[in-house]
Formats: sequence, structure tokens, C-alpha cells
Amino acid sequence: MRRPVIAIDGPAGSGKSTVAKLVAQRLGFLYIDTGAMYRALTLKALRIKEDLNDEAKLGALARTTEIKLEQAGSSLKVYLDGEDVTSEIRSPEVTNNVKYIARAKPVRECMVAKQRKLGEEGGTVMEGRDIGTVVLPDADKKFYIDASFDIRVGRRHKELNGNGASLTEEEVRKDLKTRDESDFNRAIGPLKKADDAIAVDTTDLTIEGVVDKVLSIIKAL
Ligand code: C5P
Repeated sequence: MRRPVIAIDGPAGSGKSTVAKLVAQRLGFLYIDTGAMYRALTLKALRIKEDLNDEAKLGALARTTEIKLEQAGSSLKVYLDGEDVTSEIRSPEVTNNVKYIARAKPVRECMVAKQRKLGEEGGTVMEGRDIGTVVLPDADKKFYIDASFDIRVGRRHKELNGNGASLTEEEVRKDLKTRDESDFNRAIGPLKKADDAIAVDTTDLTIEGVVDKVLSIIKAL
């Protein structure tokens, strides 16, 4: 029997990555972080100083770049043309420029095709912004993970500073606002709850609470 495919979407700081990772782990499923793919391509475009407004060139770059996700215990390693870029793709420079990559139509077409291939085997938890709406519209279960803006700022602030960055809460607030604007308003593949997705508001829930809730819904499949 084919194992289920689970789609998880939501804005930055909603807790969706942590939840998706833990749910995949508990089910023994493959965890696919599609944001990491957009981040890896952004890193490459920055390194080669590609024109971030030239969509055709960015599309060609996407088609000729190898991005691999590899599960290593509870963490996910990201390889860009064979190089481990797991940490580098989380840098502020990448975060601030990923919107140029994410809004380019030829890039999204290429990424969506790659992601569908990764998901088609079943036994996968895929997370991002357009998974339930565009990448895997036939997913067995879809979740839309959200939280209040203030809580998301607080979580991102804690996460970033835990990783050695030293950003003020105000800087994180500004960054999240800019990211929300580009994620919600992009013409192709914007962040949107699929009509058949189950909304989970994590504002007043612990991560474990959300994971249990999501798992109980999946197990009822
Ligand atoms: O999930 P994460 O915040 O790491 O994603 C980085 C960026 O990649 C997001 O801000 C978003 O613009 C983009 N993205 C996307 N589509 C996805 C996943 C991420 O456009 N499916």
C-alpha cells in the first residue's frame, strides 16, 4: 500500500518546519524542506553575482543546479552541487534575497517539478508555502500552520539568536514583515491555505501539542 503524502504550509516563524520535521520523524517518513531548496539556489545566484531580476537566467540556473536534501538523524543536510551548505543558506544575506528567486516563474516551475518527483513515492512530509495549493494538490492530508504575528516574531528572534545571530527583536519584526509581504503577494505560488487544508493555530500551543494534534489527524486517515 502506498504510504501517505502530507503537505504542510504556513508563514515564517509559525513553527511549521519544526512540526513537519518531528511529524516526519515520528512516522518514519521523508522530510522535505522546500524553503531550503529556494535558499540553496539563492546562495548560488549570490555567489555567481547573477542578475536577481533576470528571471530567464534564474530559471536556467535552477535547471542546471543540483540541490539535494539528505536526512542525517534528526537534522536535514542541504547540498548545493555536492557542497554542504546547510548552515550557509540560513545567513541573513540569503534570507534577504530569497524573494527574488521565489518570485521568478521559471524557477518555480523547475522547483515544483523537482518537488513533485520527491513527493510522488509516498511516505513524505513536505513543507513550504505552496505545497497544498500547487506542488501536491492531491496530498492525502494538508495542514496550514499559523500563529499570531507577535508570536512568530518572538520565535524567530529566539531561533536566530540561538544560532549565534545577534538581531534585535525590532530587526526580526521588520524582516518578517518584508517576508510576509513577498510570500503572500507574489503572483505565482503565493502563501495561501488550500481549501481542504486543516488550519492549526499554534499561538497558544507547544510544539509537542501541535505535533500530537497533526499526528492524530494523520493516523485517522
Ligand atoms: O521556509 P523558509 O522560510 O526557509 O523559506 C525561505 C523562503 O523560500 C520563503 O520566504 C519563501 O519566500 C520561499 N519559499 C517559497 N516556496 C516554498 C518554500 C519557500 O517561495 N514552497
